Amino acid sequence: MNENIIKYIRPKNTPVKVGSTYIGYGHPIVAQTMTNTKTEDIDATFKQITELYESGIELIRVSVPSEKALKALYEIKQKLIKKRINVNIIADIHFNAVLAEKCATFVEKVRINPGNYVDSPNKAHKSNIPDKTLIENKIKTLINICKQHGTAIRIGVNFGSLSWRIIEKYGYTPEAMVNSALEFIDVFEKLNFTNTIISLKASDVVTTIKANTLLIEQLNKREYKYPIHLGVTEAGLDTEGRIKSVLGIGILLLLGIGDTIRVSLSEHPLVEVIEAKKILNVFNNIINNRGTCKIIYVPEEALKNSTPLKIINKNNRSFRIYSFSFNKNFSFESNNSKNILGIYINKDDENTLTEFIILLGYLFFKLDFTEILILIDVPNTEKILEIIDYTLHFLNIDKKFNEYISCPTCSRSTIDVEQLTRKIKLATKKFNNLKIAIMGCIVNGPGEMHDADYGCLGSGNNKITIYKQGKPIAKNLEINEGINFLINLIEHENNKNL
Ligand code: SF4
Repeated sequence: MNENIIKYIRPKNTPVKVGSTYIGYGHPIVAQTMTNTKTEDIDATFKQITELYESGIELIRVSVPSEKALKALYEIKQKLIKKRINVNIIADIHFNAVLAEKCATFVEKVRINPGNYVDSPNKAHKSNIPDKTLIENKIKTLINICKQHGTAIRIGVNFGSLSWRIIEKYGYTPEAMVNSALEFIDVFEKLNFTNTIISLKASDVVTTIKANTLLIEQLNKREYKYPIHLGVTEAGLDTEGRIKSVLGIGILLLLGIGDTIRVSLSEHPLVEVIEAKKILNVFNNIINNRGTCKIIYVPEEALKNSTPLKIINKNNRSFRIYSFSFNKNFSFESNNSKNILGIYINKDDENTLTEFIILLGYLFFKLDFTEILILIDVPNTEKILEIIDYTLHFLNIDKKFNEYISCPTCSRSTIDVEQLTRKIKLATKKFNNLKIAIMGCIVNGPGEMHDADYGCLGSGNNKITIYKQGKPIAKNLEINEGINFLINLIEHENNKNL
């Protein structure tokens, strides 16, 4: 039955060569990750790259925030070559075109961020030169170096670091993300450089999905054929971080979008690898019809003697959840107008749950239904009910949890994001519907604060800056003092709502 509803078609694009790996049509969808050590710490970064490579990852991104990090990455690369570790390194660059140009001579791919590659961070320094000319002037040296060395480029847009120029035009919207990428792609095309991969990532699942589907529409209109890198950025940690990633990446993959993926968690990158591989494995099972869950059409009479465990009516959509035993007397084969679309789940192992989340999200996005049944055929329904609640929360259907936006950290971070996020989660779990951002640095930090109720970001030298409703309210506090300040503020302002 599932194959009648899920029609996966991978569109043809032009594969991009990243060292020894091809990304794009005709090649397997490939997982990647990023180091979270200080790049300048050559031993620690080399060790982490080696561990990640041994876990089966062939594309590893490393942050290069400074000349010192650049020199370290060069040494690391030489060490990898000497030890015959055939891993493809992606240099992650923000703000600094010169670092990108230098890295492009010895790494396999450079990721640049259109939000901070060209525009001055300061609005007061607005240029009178047309936007695309400005981009062309700034990018052409990098493109020439990449052409010479066979280096690929990722145009990596992040919702948290859109330029003020783009935000002024489009606001914080999926359209802003798409146009931020398109400006660069048009210039790349003009300069005859197509060894390029594109990514649009947001910490919000729905924004990520809308931006990527819109991007594909725009690329198709222009007949551009670029591979796509997928991810939900700053997804956080624990169950929530995993469900967000499964939803954002899994739904887009089923919609036929995506050639490489990264799961961004505020945990060790080896955990990201496990989660990314799980998503790819489950996705392959779904499209090859080897999945466990069933999408079925259920005749209403099959349920007439059953009481739903739960009914959720939101935004003109209805979800009815039943504890259900498959009854062979009923035929679930055809879609006649009286039958209701449903998902049937009869296992609660990790792969089945991952598949269930993807399918539920896919049905929501792809099909214009008003009512969906969820039929649970396992003895303990609690775990699945919790997953349904999170899924509907992250699809913005039924918001009920706190949301913690936290970055996976990289060489730029000066704070322990994972530990701080755990501390803040624990202290605020008694509240509901708060959005709290915990970010390692200023690259995506201020952008992620814009619609968060509260937040903090690493402002260098073991200091943090505290935000409330998008505005900094206490700058450069010592970490413990800052976290206590933030937790006290949240408690003070929300205790009355309990
Ligand atoms: Fe690195 Fe986090 Fe800063 Fe992003 S926001 S650049 S992951 S420290």
